Amino acid sequence: MEFEAYVIRQIINESEDVRTFKLSAHDGRVPKYQPGHFFLLRLKGEDGKPVQRPYSAASHPSESLLSFCIKLKGTFTHLLWQKKEGDDVEVSGPYGTFLLSPSDAERVFIGGGVGISALRSHIIQTIKEGKPAFLFHSAKKPEGLIYAQEMRQLAQENENFRFFPSLTGEAVPPDWSGLRGRIGVAILKEKLGTLLGKTFYLCGSKEMAGELSEALMAAGVPKERIKKDEWG
Ligand SMILES: Cc1cc2nc3c(=O)[nH]c(=O)nc-3n(C[C@H](O)[C@H](O)[C@H](O)COP(=O)(O)OP(=O)(O)OC[C@H]3O[C@@H](n4cnc5c(N)ncnc54)[C@H](O)[C@@H]3O)c2cc1C
Repeated sequence: MEFEAYVIRQIINESEDVRTFKLSAHDGRVPKYQPGHFFLLRLKGEDGKPVQRPYSAASHPSESLLSFCIKLKGTFTHLLWQKKEGDDVEVSGPYGTFLLSPSDAERVFIGGGVGISALRSHIIQTIKEGKPAFLFHSAKKPEGLIYAQEMRQLAQENENFRFFPSLTGEAVPPDWSGLRGRIGVAILKEKLGTLLGKTFYLCGSKEMAGELSEALMAAGVPKERIKKDEWG
């Protein structure tokens, strides 16, 4: 497994505990990859030993920087939070199979919290292909709906793309006009009309992606039309 030192060109605070890190190689290159690929990021731990974790690319391959949308959690992310713009992080990849099928007619993307990362790249690609795309993004609080402003803008500019944000927590702004609660088959049927002819891309915790794929299959969606990126 080969790693190369990349430079952190930009860090964006998306919320209290989520940041976007934008990287490129020392000579400004970004690697060749497809929407849905992930990379391994590696840093030196406090004991000097390397620590690595997988992260989905949030950027589209046409963008000039390789981006990752990352939530602060444990060992690796605490090391990463100490890094500043201009510092190095080692990168290996791309890897993975959470890729778009060219034969899809319509794509439905469903993500929880920071699970939006791989879906952002998929959505930009689907819009470029001119295919219908639907995004259901849920988070506890409004600030957990990472990239919501960009998604609203994309939905305004592209009639083929529809964005359905959902809040699952107690704190809902009084003027909230989006969905409430976790995304399930009932909401999907209500908003999509039919589940037939669509391919579903689920990204988030094992629990969320597992439950939803079972429910979709029980509702008649063929297994091969459901793709999952589960993060444990
Ligand atoms: C293909 C793939 C793509 C991914 N893409 C992304 C992405 O785009 N963005 C993203 O944010 N994440 C992504 N992840 C998850 C990511 O790889 C890491 O798992 C995540 O960032 C946590 O790493 P960490 O080292 O900070 O936490 P870890 O130290 O690995 O801890 C993970 C969890 O365990 C808990 N924990 C740790 N130690 C203990 C302990 N001793 N007792 C109890 N609990 C403990 C932590 O609180 C934390 O909740 C992806 C995972 C996969 C497999």
